[in-house]
Amino acid sequence: MGAAPAWHERATALRPDGRCLIEGERRAAAGGVVFAKHSPVDGRLLGDVARGGAADIEAAVRSARSAFEDRRWAGKPPAARKRILVRWAELVLAAREELALIDTLDMGKPIQYALGVDVPATARCLAWYGEAVDKVYDEIAPTPDTALALITREPVGVMGAIVPWNYPLVMAAWKLGPALAAGNSVVLKPSEKSPFSALRLAELALEAGIPPGVLNVVPGYGHEAGEALALHMDVDAIGFTGSTRTGRRMLEYAGRSNLKRVHNELGGKSAFIVFDDFADLGRAARTLAGSIFFNQGESCNAPSRALIHDSIADRFVELLAAEAPQYAPADPLAPATVMGALVDDTQLRTVLGYIEAGRDEGARCIAGGRRALESTGGCYVEPTIFDGVANGMTIAREEIFGPVLSVIRFRSEQEAIQIANASSYGLQAAVWSDRLGRAHRVARALRAGTVHVNQYDEDDITVPFGGFKQSGNGRDKSLHAFDKVTELKTTWLRIDPA
Ligand code: NAD
Repeated sequence: MGAAPAWHERATALRPDGRCLIEGERRAAAGGVVFAKHSPVDGRLLGDVARGGAADIEAAVRSARSAFEDRRWAGKPPAARKRILVRWAELVLAAREELALIDTLDMGKPIQYALGVDVPATARCLAWYGEAVDKVYDEIAPTPDTALALITREPVGVMGAIVPWNYPLVMAAWKLGPALAAGNSVVLKPSEKSPFSALRLAELALEAGIPPGVLNVVPGYGHEAGEALALHMDVDAIGFTGSTRTGRRMLEYAGRSNLKRVHNELGGKSAFIVFDDFADLGRAARTLAGSIFFNQGESCNAPSRALIHDSIADRFVELLAAEAPQYAPADPLAPATVMGALVDDTQLRTVLGYIEAGRDEGARCIAGGRRALESTGGCYVEPTIFDGVANGMTIAREEIFGPVLSVIRFRSEQEAIQIANASSYGLQAAVWSDRLGRAHRVARALRAGTVHVNQYDEDDITVPFGGFKQSGNGRDKSLHAFDKVTELKTTWLRIDPA
């Protein structure tokens, strides 16, 4: 990785292109409307972004539809799509520094993670789906001798992908990898808070050989470009990642338009349960701090509720509080920084508002709790821990999406499970116990799409990611993602008797 001054110099020279990418070409939005995009790192202007609207979505969907109908992509043999997706992943890695810098400046994450986590995860995702697509087989049903029934998967057609800003490249790749590998055409709407890297990613797709029109990107606001895409009568499915509030709208849009399939990957309020039989409390505290403060707490699966057995809670909270200072926010462009800036002023105000609500409702703030580095002009908050939280308090119920942890105490296994499940969300959870039977029992009882036992860091493209309850019905990653981007077709053939 370059030294800090080199990143600053490169940041000053960076001129990201915020125009739409439709039919393989960069274009201004209809009427030439733009909005200015500033960086949460220090408030600097990054550039203008096309303010895509209904006319741009119309052009992008038409382009995607005609690419799908003439089979310029879906008609290629799977092995040919594989080669192109693998090449795309190689180009992403070759552009790693540029892509990482764009995301750090656009949404504030530390450069070391943009470079060492987001970019490699994006490349691995694209390559993995490319590699998978010529290795998955269709089915033949166990019918009588007089008939043959083929069960085949076909691409859904034109897919809309609407994604958030917290992992701009990875969230786009989780949608694009399986959708494109399966032969769909896609219109991608990145977040207005982090539009640049998705546009660059799509340019690299063209360079890798994905034909023009197959992948179109329209930046813009949710209530304009996003709504037009989700309401479009010629979009067959929407892959959405974002807040539960917007996910609800996606279902309404589908109901008001063509009943398009909607796959929602939504928010979370994940519980991290530590039992009194777990010996290495230091490791549990380190893992918890590392996970809740990673990406400034702006992760859907952040373990934001720590459920700690009463008999070890005082000791555990001490260990946790000792971890907090090393996550103090610092310059995101400095190579050693572990906590960067929140995405924008709005998010900063939201997080500070939750911290105030925690204090008002009687929780004890034992670490952080304030804005930081204000003189930089950026959006920074201290890593914050509340003790004495009740599960009914606002900070325990609502997704904060910032570096704020609530510690809730429990007295029995049953109570821990009850509190963990008393949430409208069900994305992830963790159980820390040295008793194998308890770990299995509790893991089974937790209503969450992923349960971690005695760790929280493992993650891989090979396993599905998604939630129960109001965390959504989507499943990104793994071969299961193909279920969301394909339709099952049954073809019956009569076999004449001899
Ligand atoms: P958001 O819902 O505000 O926005 C997400 C996307 O939807 C953006 O592209 C936005 O422009 C668009 N959008 C907003 N309003 C819209 C509307 N009315 N019509 C159409 N599109 C609209 O969410 P966010 O703040 O960008 O992201 C944070 C949320 O994403 C958190 O809740 C987080 O938990 C969730 N998230 C979930 C996962 C997951 O896999 N489950 C992963 C990452 C983030």
